[in-house]
Amino acid sequence: MAETVAAPEIRPLVPHLRIGATREEDYLFGSKCSTCGAMYAGPRLFCGKCSASGPFEEVKFGRDAEVHVFTIIHQATPYVKAPYVAAIVDLPEGVSINTNIEVDPKPENVKFGMKLKMYTEKASEDKEGNTYIAYRYRPA
Ligand SMILES: [Zn+2]
Repeated sequence: MAETVAAPEIRPLVPHLRIGATREEDYLFGSKCSTCGAMYAGPRLFCGKCSASGPFEEVKFGRDAEVHVFTIIHQATPYVKAPYVAAIVDLPEGVSINTNIEVDPKPENVKFGMKLKMYTEKASEDKEGNTYIAYRYRPA
């Protein structure tokens, strides 16, 4: 009996990232409550504002953001290279998301309100050969 092996896939590292044919076509998305209009990053089962269980409209986010708050992480889990800049960024679509900012991790290199652009890249690969794509931001 022949062993079936699934072809390696390109997968998003987080549920609010959609993978395109190329990294330039990857995008973050949100869910907009059809009842009250509240916007959330990623998929959603219930609205935290009006308690409706949907329906939710999927909204494609652009690549722009600005720094809301940030910190510099100096100690991370063993396989993560530190230091790095961890941040919460505001999107013009009205949501805030956690991310890393790709800059030399020094306080003088990041400013509150600084304009950013999202990009994606390979973050890791599992033993079956599946590739995991992560999003990050860098100064615009
Ligand atoms: Zn709602």
